[in-house]
Amino acid sequence: MKHIARKRFGQNFLHDASAIAAIVDAIAPKPGDALVEIGPGLGALTRPLRERLGRMTVVEIDRDLAARLRNDPQLRVIESDVLRVDFAQLHAEMAASGGLRIVGNLPYNVSTPILFHLLAFAHCVQDQHFMLQKEVVQRIVAPADSSEFSRLSVMLQWRYAMEKVLEVGPECFDPAPKVNSAVVRMTPLAAVPHVNPARLSELVQVAFSQRRKLMRNTLGPWLDKEGFSGAFDLQRRAQEVGVDEYVALARQLDDTPGIKPL
Ligand code: SAM
Repeated sequence: MKHIARKRFGQNFLHDASAIAAIVDAIAPKPGDALVEIGPGLGALTRPLRERLGRMTVVEIDRDLAARLRNDPQLRVIESDVLRVDFAQLHAEMAASGGLRIVGNLPYNVSTPILFHLLAFAHCVQDQHFMLQKEVVQRIVAPADSSEFSRLSVMLQWRYAMEKVLEVGPECFDPAPKVNSAVVRMTPLAAVPHVNPARLSELVQVAFSQRRKLMRNTLGPWLDKEGFSGAFDLQRRAQEVGVDEYVALARQLDDTPGIKPL
């Protein structure tokens, strides 16, 4: 029976053979990889990945699609909202010495929450390949001091090395989305400074809350309220501050006696 795409689950199914082949080549799956696909849908990526891998695991929220996928005995189907999946447990179960490889043409309506959810499991991950809105990929990989540098850039660049690997037009999907798409490769950095992600997230959110204003009008009052008395140049806009500086400030805040722990 034909599946009717569900908008609430961000269902835009890939059908273009050359786009699918290019994405699978970029992922370069090898037998033995502990690969997990988020949102396999009708299996456009799952089938070629499975051919190269043998077994793999998929996480699908749509009950009807999960039921179809269970017909393939080589697939471990987790029927769930990916935001509820404990990837550390999956990692332990899959006994992946090299870390999980996570892939997916993500539902665009929840792609940012999914990226933030996965941040907590970066230590269990070898790499991630995700199709996202092209505009989101550009923000993710944007360097400091560019107009696209944003909260998302800081929160992900702190933890991953990232690159845009290819672009995909709307005509490659059914139904066609209204936006262009791109695939990003994210590789967790081996050595990261110890920082409380909740502190970094709070700080970056305030800094970018009014990106055109100098931070003395946004972050400044907030730092005062928090009781921070260290040095930080607030005569800049949020996008002019590098990732390392945000991380260093978050660490300083965590180390300042009297500032509420998160
Ligand atoms: N991988 C397929 C493809 O490329 O044709 C489908 C991609 S479609 C853009 C997104 C998929 O993610 C759909 O199958 C949808 O049901 C699933 N999905 C949406 N929200 C989800 C969630 N919170 N957790 C797990 N899967 C989800």
